[in-house]
Amino acid sequence: MIAAEDVSWSYGANPVIGGVSVEARPGRVLGLIGPNGSGKTTLLRLLYGALRSRTGRITVDGLPLASSREMARRLAVVVQETGGETALTVGEMVLLGRGPHLSTFQRTGPQDHAIAARCLARVGAAHLGARSFAGLSGGERQRVLIARALAQQATHLLLDEPTNHLDIRYQHEVLGLVRDLGTCSIVVLHDLNLAARYCDDLVLLGAGGVKAAGTVDEVLDPAILEPVYGIGIQRLELGGSIHLLFHPGES
Ligand code: ADP
Repeated sequence: MIAAEDVSWSYGANPVIGGVSVEARPGRVLGLIGPNGSGKTTLLRLLYGALRSRTGRITVDGLPLASSREMARRLAVVVQETGGETALTVGEMVLLGRGPHLSTFQRTGPQDHAIAARCLARVGAAHLGARSFAGLSGGERQRVLIARALAQQATHLLLDEPTNHLDIRYQHEVLGLVRDLGTCSIVVLHDLNLAARYCDDLVLLGAGGVKAAGTVDEVLDPAILEPVYGIGIQRLELGGSIHLLFHPGES
């Protein structure tokens, strides 16, 4: 469980997140949605401690968010800007996920290598193990970073637009994987139809803060979404699942 109460962030004099509260529950996938610049990435960065809110508090399973080995065993993060300059191979990159499970001078052993190999295979990247991470395409990198998060075996997973750079097949495979992990996950998503399919709960951000929070069914309501996105939206329910169609110029 990740609980944020009354968190805020400003870049200089520009307030981006003000008095926001969010709750991500065990075994559920919480999606952060909203237009460009609404603060999704900033909120995610607050939730994994890359930014420190000056107000309120954030807890993971009731413990204050802190940068510790204990927290790293609980919380794994997949963000875009990771490792572009690294000289590591893909296999070494995934092994980094084992770090929080090793004692200070302990080196990775056969069990860690087996876990890393299994995690690479789960994201369809077993064949990339010996390649240089920096030489991969955006989509390949994304899958390797997800494998690293899986190798960390954390109970909470935070991802910033994990489907960016991925083709349609891997968009679905990666989000299906996140869903099947059964972890408490928070994922920033642009694509509302992917959010409809793979999230349980949503927080909709817009200028000035949280515009709506609740289940997918509650938040993906055209009456709520249209004023925030400024576009006409039609909701269809096919085979029990929600699909949104977009009509520019009709909001
Ligand atoms: P989103 O993820 O919803 O697109 P962001 O959290 O990236 O939104 O950005 C929210 C706002 O904060 C935007 O107006 C953006 O320009 C601004 N912003 C983001 N990062 C920085 C930064 N490092 N310095 C100054 N402003 C920033």
